Amino acid sequence: MHAGDPWYRDGLRFQCQRCGNCCTGGSGSVRVSDAEIEALARRLGLADAEFRAAYTRRLRDGAVSLRERRGGDCVFYERGQGCRVYEVRPTQCRSWPFWRSVVYSQERWDEEAELCPGMNRGPRHAAEDIRAISEADGTSGEIPGRADVGSAAGSAREG
Ligand code: SF4
Ligand code: SF4
Repeated sequence: MHAGDPWYRDGLRFQCQRCGNCCTGGSGSVRVSDAEIEALARRLGLADAEFRAAYTRRLRDGAVSLRERRGGDCVFYERGQGCRVYEVRPTQCRSWPFWRSVVYSQERWDEEAELCPGMNRGPRHAAEDIRAISEADGTSGEIPGRADVGSAAGSAREG
């Protein structure tokens, strides 16, 4: 063990169970880059501007997020089917649950694992892979304070 090793130095297990918890429910943001917007628009046969108008919204910090439906489900989540754009889903969706804001502490990881049944299941992911994913997770990178954890827990979209 080295002094700089993260708490997850032995790796972490994760295998998505496709329950949909992270795409549904309470309000959350899914940040999308210009390149991701281009890929999503192409997938739907839309011009980038059409896609932006129909499926995105601007966040307070100026970033662009996917919209959500009334009730908080991601605009691309179809109940009973899952993600409509799975092959081109944004980085933020791919990198879950290895986000900086989740893997920064075991306590935070355990809190999220209560609502994401894929965490602590399936194959073990190596610490160096987790670190690399978390450093480019597509999120805002903000580490929530204790007061924010309750509202953010259980969603792979940022609260
Ligand atoms: S909450 Fe976890 S197990 Fe469920 S769909 Fe999301 S990532 Fe997969
Ligand atoms: S785009 Fe992301 S949050 Fe939306 S349904 Fe697909 S995986 Fe879920």
